[in-house]
Amino acid sequence: MEAINYQVKERNEEIKLPESLGFGKYFTDHVFEMDYSKEKGWYNPTIKPLADILMHPATMFIHYGQAIFEGLKAFKTENGDVVLFRPDQHIKRLNNSAKRICIPAVDEEFVLEALKELVNIDRDWVPSKKGESLYVRPFVYGSNPFLGVSPANTYKLVILLSPVGAYYPEGFKPVKILVQDDYVRAVRKGLGECKTPANYAASLLAGEKAKEKGFTQVLWLDGVKQKNIEEVGTMNIFINLKDEVVTPKLNGSILPGITRKTVIQLLKEWNMNVVERDISVDEVIQKYDSGELLGIFGTGTAAVITSVGWLSFKDKNMVINGGEPGKLDVKLFDEITAIQYGLKQDTHGWIQKVEKKEVEVS
Ligand SMILES: *Cc1c(COP(=O)(O)O)cnc(C)c1O
Repeated sequence: MEAINYQVKERNEEIKLPESLGFGKYFTDHVFEMDYSKEKGWYNPTIKPLADILMHPATMFIHYGQAIFEGLKAFKTENGDVVLFRPDQHIKRLNNSAKRICIPAVDEEFVLEALKELVNIDRDWVPSKKGESLYVRPFVYGSNPFLGVSPANTYKLVILLSPVGAYYPEGFKPVKILVQDDYVRAVRKGLGECKTPANYAASLLAGEKAKEKGFTQVLWLDGVKQKNIEEVGTMNIFINLKDEVVTPKLNGSILPGITRKTVIQLLKEWNMNVVERDISVDEVIQKYDSGELLGIFGTGTAAVITSVGWLSFKDKNMVINGGEPGKLDVKLFDEITAIQYGLKQDTHGWIQKVEKKEVEVS
């Protein structure tokens, strides 16, 4: 792989972040981009000022959806370091997603290096208030203009950075979830385990309808029988039962979350009986009725842990743990965020520091 071409812009004004960042509304000064062609492989890796991308109206991904993305975070720790949480896992998953929809693989080590170089250059954008972070969005799309249906000939990889606010500015707050059986998000052997925009397109209508009814998000059932619970669509799901903590096993239609993996590892270390298996919505209801359902929580990069306070399926309305965050949910949230913000030592090799380097401006 050739060396990164730096077109770094001098920053004349001080960065002023708004009081409330929200999610995905603000962007840093620079992006990383690189191109792919069959002849050259991945080439022209460049860090440059953020700018619009001009594209031909026939650009392939717009028409046929050949695109993938990732979402990870950089944190400013207590002592001012900038660190990434499990970036290697995210880039590995990017390549897994790529394979499923005929996108050429990237050199994982090189992309990780490039990602760190970019975050270093825009490190002053990493917000430092409690719960805030820098969201890192790598994505790849088919970029040549052609209206025939086939994999694209050329691709672009972009890494975009967005300072984001605390997910829970008013403290840990349980959400209301609607179990969905009017629509499906993904089916086994389809795209469910691939982080691709198509899965989000499939989920929008059900999400909007759930919001109209006062729910925050939808819990998806398996696409074939609509019997087993799968995931929330932006989060994986865990059911805390009396004798076991259950999360649906990865079956091809569930996105293999990195927070999910982190939580499974922690629960094992805490000697809890964490089980990856099929679990039906009927079983959840039955465990609720028999008093064996202690809690439900979701896992994902954006919020880390989200407590489910209310779960509804058809005319069954369940109040989980009195609508309060479960003890386990809070413990997991505190543990993972303490590691991310450097308040607790990382003994797992999950944290990677972004070394401070001076870069010449052009
Ligand atoms: C990204 C994503 C998740 C969460 O994965 P993390 O790696 O934990 O952030 C869960 N479900 C879907 C559909 C996703 O796209």
